This record gives sequence, structure tokens and C-alpha cells, in this order.
Amino acid sequence: MLDIFQALKEKEEASLHLLKEFVELESFSFDKQGVDNLSTHLIRVFSEFPVKAESLKEEHYGNHLRFQLGEGEKQLLLLSHLDTVYPRGTIERMPFQVEGKKARGPGVIDIKASYVMVYHLFELLLQQMNLKDYQIVWLLTSDEEVGSPTGKLAVKREAARSEAVLVLEPAADNRALKTARKGGGKFTIEVNGISAHAGLNPQDGANAIEELAFQITKIISLADWSKGTTINTGEIKGGSLFNVVADYARAEIDVRIEERDEIQRIQQAFDQLRVRNPRTRLNVTGSIYRPPLIKTELTGRLFKMAERIGRDLDVSVEEAMVGGGSDGNYAAETGAPVLDGLGGYGGGAHSPDEFLWIESLAERTSILYGLIQELIQLDGTWR
Ligand SMILES: [Zn+2]
Repeated sequence: MLDIFQALKEKEEASLHLLKEFVELESFSFDKQGVDNLSTHLIRVFSEFPVKAESLKEEHYGNHLRFQLGEGEKQLLLLSHLDTVYPRGTIERMPFQVEGKKARGPGVIDIKASYVMVYHLFELLLQQMNLKDYQIVWLLTSDEEVGSPTGKLAVKREAARSEAVLVLEPAADNRALKTARKGGGKFTIEVNGISAHAGLNPQDGANAIEELAFQITKIISLADWSKGTTINTGEIKGGSLFNVVADYARAEIDVRIEERDEIQRIQQAFDQLRVRNPRTRLNVTGSIYRPPLIKTELTGRLFKMAERIGRDLDVSVEEAMVGGGSDGNYAAETGAPVLDGLGGYGGGAHSPDEFLWIESLAERTSILYGLIQELIQLDGTWR
């Protein structure tokens, strides 16, 4: 493994060249054209390998992209995504830059570094491995950053037939792999009331803000820190002037859960919200759309493998539980073993400071290659 690690380090310049092209093709979740252009470029770059590339058409979001290397019966799944949180034009203010040991740019760590990793991984697999029993599927969803409303179907379909799922999301802080992720969702609470003058005829009004405030106190009491269930009222709007009885108010609520049973409890509680003031109307929309990624025994075994490969390379590999979700959550829902956070490490994801430690490209590619090599050699006996 050390020789592979060394050889990858020597390819750093070529890696950065690839990375620059990927970052400069901006691919905001709501920019179908941008996402599809990136797909076209990826298909072109990966056509130098004997891979099957398939575009999974979407109308509103970009197309999802599926690569397959090898024709074997058994499947190992790699997950990335095409989209980023940066609207087109961000690259003008935040150009791709190499600054000492860091690379910067929109989406550089979340998630474009992973494409460079898979490029070298495929190169290595073709040189070093016999893929007759296995196929490696690399799925890139187009709407991951907005919760994969369409991509989750493809993720679940592929995960259900995979022996293991390796998610190339960026590492957690301290470079840790992610063996568990919270699930969660979003709810919108809207109240319609009746407007009136606060001084002349308050009795004719029905205050939407007061009703909403009452509902919010009920909602936040659903949080249960001992189970890892947290609730955040992140945004609130309503009313017009201090001396007018408010006829409208709205709140946006973020819910995070660690336990599967909590989905039902929370969902039900939101469904059962009723108005206190019968002269107001309440409209509750939203759901818990992302199930939690729970650490299973098999996830633990995958992590141990990665940890051991790290030791061979003289790098430490830690594990973490994180609050944010990814396509790994949907994959885990199918019962497939999922190890997440195998992508590069750096910081500032989703911010103007996003950066990648360049050394992580070679390191993480080596770990990824080591994992796949071991999984193929073990031929399912590790489960
Ligand atoms: Zn991501």
C-alpha cells in the first residue's frame, strides 16, 4: 500500500489539473444546465477507462450520472454528487486557487475532490485488480445539496444491491470518517389570522403571530436531547406594523433525529397540531425526509478496515457522528453497510472559505483503494 500512496503523491500536479477543471464547471443544484455540463465533462474524462456511463434523466434538476467499472455479479457502490451550493458566477469571486498546501474554490472539497479520487481509483483497479466477480458502481446524484428529492430513488436502488456503500463526502473535523449521521427534515408552520386595529377594534382581530408563538412553544417541547432529537426554529416572518393585529405569520422549523422511531413520533406530533384560537387557520407542511444513518455492526467493520489501512500508511483514521445528512442516509435505509466521509479533508464547506488539504487526495485515494481491494479479496466473507 505504501508504494501506491507514494505513487499517488507523485501525481499531485495532474490531480490538481483535473480538480481545477471540475471546480470551474459550476454546478449549482438549481442550475440544470450547469450540472448537465459537468456530467458531460465527467463522461468525457472517464471515457479513457472501460466504463459504462449512464445519464439518468431528470426534468427539473440535472441528470444523475452512473458509472460502472467491471461486469461482475457483486456490486460495491461509491457515492458522490454533481451539485454544489454555489450559484453560477461564484467562481468569479472565489476562483480555483492553489495556495501552499491548500486548494480553494466552490465545491472543491464538497464534492469535486472525490472525482479526482475516483479517477485514480479506477486507474489503480484496472492496473492491479481482477474485477471478474465485481462491478464498481459510482453514482453521482444531481440534487444532494437540497436533500436528494429525486436522487434518493437511484441511491436506494443501487444501495439495495450493493455489498457495501462508500460515501465520498468530505471528512468530518479532525479528518474523521462518518459512521453515523443524523436524519431530519423541515416543516413550515403558517397561520392566517384576521387583521384589525390594535386600538380601535382589537376584539375583531385574530392575531396570527400570537397563535404561531403558541404553536412554536408546543413544537420545541418535542425536542429530546437524550435521544438526539433537536429542533430549531430558524426563520420567522409575519405581521406588518406594531399597531395592527397580525393576519399572517410563518415559521420554518429544522428537525434532527438520531433514532428511527423518532420519525414517527415527530411526524405525528406535527400532524396533530391544532389551533388554540379558533378564529385563526393553521397550515402545517413538511416532513422528516432524511432517515438517520445509524452505525451498524457492519459499518463498524468497514471502519475497522479503513483504520487498519490507515495504520499501514502511517495516517490516523478516526470516526465521528455528525448532524448533517447525505445520500449515505438513504443508502443506509436499505440495510446496506455504509461508511461515509471518505472524501478529502479540509474545511469551510458551503462557505467562501471552502478549501481542501491537497495531501488528502493521495491519502484518501489510497484508503479507498485499500478498502475496495480488501472487500474484493474477502469476497463477502467479512459480512
Ligand atoms: Zn456533499
